[in-house]
Amino acid sequence: MNPLYTKSLSLALLAASPIMLSACAQKSNAQEADRFAKVEIKTQKLTDNIAVLFGAGGNIGVSYGPDGTVLIDDQFAPLTKKIEAAVAALEADPVKYLINTHWHGDHSGGNENFGKAGALIMAHDHVRQRMAGEQTDGRGNDPASPKAALPVVTYEDGLKLHLNGDEVHVKHMKNAHTDGDSIVFWKNANVIHMGDLYFNKVTLPFIDLNSGGNARGVLAAAEQALALANDDTQIIPGHGPMATTADLKDYRDMLKSVIGSVEAARSEGKTLEQIQAMKPAAKWDTNKDAFIKGDAFVKAVYMSLEKPAH
Ligand SMILES: [Zn+2]
Ligand SMILES: [Zn+2]
Repeated sequence: MNPLYTKSLSLALLAASPIMLSACAQKSNAQEADRFAKVEIKTQKLTDNIAVLFGAGGNIGVSYGPDGTVLIDDQFAPLTKKIEAAVAALEADPVKYLINTHWHGDHSGGNENFGKAGALIMAHDHVRQRMAGEQTDGRGNDPASPKAALPVVTYEDGLKLHLNGDEVHVKHMKNAHTDGDSIVFWKNANVIHMGDLYFNKVTLPFIDLNSGGNARGVLAAAEQALALANDDTQIIPGHGPMATTADLKDYRDMLKSVIGSVEAARSEGKTLEQIQAMKPAAKWDTNKDAFIKGDAFVKAVYMSLEKPAH
């Protein structure tokens, strides 16, 4: 069995999808294949040479043109053929460069396939480090990834790609959703891919504390993305539909409000249980099927505040 199939957190993140039922369970190849067989990759064009692909797992950014096709994240291994078909339908060349926004398997599960097909994989240093070893996200263990799945080019702070008439800025965001998150900003096209630093409408934020995540880092990342954005910026969230700058501002304000409430109550000596009872995230805790509900988010914020600020 391909170990990437068992990335349990990633599967659990497929909220409201039948695939999430397989989370944490060791399914046979046939069962897994059947679940992914039903997934359809939907394409939304954002500009003449940038599109977003929605399927199962993290949203994929595609940028293409004469200098080659760049993929941002690659969902799950069984979807690679469908993703390749969606890229070809854009009349784009096969993937030449692949950037992972972070290590979670719903964003990097196709790495081995794309790596073997010749794509150059790039990600933050910690993405490679985490994928190279066994990981736990608190919901299950992920085995080490095979060599072909590992990023070949890694960076500490970020890098820039000069391709297809644009400057693609890849910027690391410190200790946020994980400790290896990057956002991707197409400067000329004015598009930002946020990875899981932004869940648009589908769930409250998931902070992977076991992977070095911190709620304050998610807020800082939203602020940094907003500093790059203007009113016309198109924002690709890690999960959920396309967003505007105004949507991301709402998300930033939600983070500020909940972190502020938890911090204030904590400094008054209130316990986690007392703070959860105050329901500081209630206003945004509206999706009963969400992967992360109010109490879980408040707990992650509370635990984030116990760690040193970055
Ligand atoms: Zn994700
Ligand atoms: Zn993630």
